Amino acid sequence: MSRILAGQVVIATHNAGKLVEMRELLAPFGVAAVSAGELGLPEPDETGTMFAENAAIKAHAAAQASGLPAFADDSGLCVDALDGAPGIFSARWAGAAKDFSGAMARILAELDRRGATDRRAHFVSALVLAWPDGHTELFEGRVFGDLVEPRGTAGFGYDPMFRPDGFERTFGEISSEEKHGVDWQSGNALSHRARAFVALAAACLRRPG
Ligand code: IMP
Repeated sequence: MSRILAGQVVIATHNAGKLVEMRELLAPFGVAAVSAGELGLPEPDETGTMFAENAAIKAHAAAQASGLPAFADDSGLCVDALDGAPGIFSARWAGAAKDFSGAMARILAELDRRGATDRRAHFVSALVLAWPDGHTELFEGRVFGDLVEPRGTAGFGYDPMFRPDGFERTFGEISSEEKHGVDWQSGNALSHRARAFVALAAACLRRPG
């Protein structure tokens, strides 16, 4: 049985791009969101080997430190011809300087080095909602597409090089609303994070009124 979230929640991220997207997704639900960065919470080491493990580490650390329910998303880009890399190391491929132009160039260079013509890739988001008493809810979302030469300045991270299936434009060339692609009536969504969030909302959130 899922637990319903009400009142205040911590968004356990120090990533500005993710924070914006999570706030946008939470907006219709009347839940007040404060970020781990705003509360000055430390960033735990992501020692897991899977997205879901790392999301749970971040959500539990924030719930324990704040005494509030906490959301964490662990996400990344998995490239088929690179055996799923960068995967859980997606943030680390950008280095301490968070240089995603460099990280995108590294992916394309690695594909060339391997002589790979397959450009298939997908984003994954594991979304964990953890309460201070240890109760946990986990939801996952994926979006599949192709990698292209980076285009556009919208979004964050690897967005400019990812063209989702059915689109001519990359995630770097569409608005965040289009990237979420949420249709609350049908329960459909586009991005990996929005797909995980829609499942979470169905289980744990209620619209006010
Ligand atoms: P982490 O989940 O904090 O370990 O970081 C995940 C990393 O994956 C981010 O820093 C981005 O580089 C990348 N990533 C995750 N979701 C997205 C997305 O929606 N667009 C572009 N890059 C993403």
